[in-house]
Amino acid sequence: MQCDPICFLCNLHPESIEHLLFECSFIKVIWERILAIFGCNRSILSFDAEVMWVSKICRKDRAKNRLLGMCFAESVYHIWLQRNSLIFTGNFKSGEPMIRDILFAVASRCSGSDRNLLIL
Ligand SMILES: [Zn+2]
Repeated sequence: MQCDPICFLCNLHPESIEHLLFECSFIKVIWERILAIFGCNRSILSFDAEVMWVSKICRKDRAKNRLLGMCFAESVYHIWLQRNSLIFTGNFKSGEPMIRDILFAVASRCSGSDRNLLIL
């Protein structure tokens, strides 16, 4: 099967798991914005390093940490959905609608008190 090897989201670099999660400039902005919502203003790490960081954060039993872990999982899922939607249907969501979808998915799955922390 012939596939375009270039990332469909940024059209700049060869697509790979490492690029999609989180080297791609389009994706970096999404994850940076979500981290900023939780007061984390830092550079985006490699996927493996982000997984390690999130798994460490989630061990602390705080609502903010639970939500951050949920946002991470939803972000990865929505990145995959976005990539597939663009490739197979041509539909593309810009960053802000995608962030809203991620936050909505998390808000739909968390408790009411945790949900209040997502109100921006
Ligand atoms: Zn890319």
